[in-house]
Amino acid sequence: MSDCLFCKIIAGEIPSKKVYEDEKVYAFEDIKPAAPTHVLIIPKRHFAGLDKAGPEDAEIIGYCNLIAAKLGRERNIEDGYRTVLNVGPRSGQSVFHLHLHLVGGRDLSWPPG
Ligand code: AMP
Ligand code: ZN
Repeated sequence: MSDCLFCKIIAGEIPSKKVYEDEKVYAFEDIKPAAPTHVLIIPKRHFAGLDKAGPEDAEIIGYCNLIAAKLGRERNIEDGYRTVLNVGPRSGQSVFHLHLHLVGGRDLSWPPG
């Protein structure tokens, strides 16, 4: 999508700190980290969010979580991290290209705010 911030990041039109890439996903450091590890994992194929996902998106949503687990392992934060999909304006979703937050490296309170 031409006017999508995260599609532009994938295309290299907007700079990002890449931490992982393969044919299906791109992962980069969040510009405003909420924790020592705060990485966004995004499908290369644009879709707006979990609320817009269909059965054809099940594999990529699962795959994003597996990449989060791999990065969590590599960063030694397996004693506590969280993967988060914000959905809709009341959740704080501000970018409408599905992105999985990987947050960790500090104590995480529950319930989230
Ligand atoms: P959400 O609030 O779930 O839509 O998450 C969007 C996230 O994207 C926020 O945590 C922002 O800090 C992050 N973000 C926005 N613009 C950029 C950017 N140019 N590079 C990296 N992260 C960004
Ligand atoms: Zn996009």
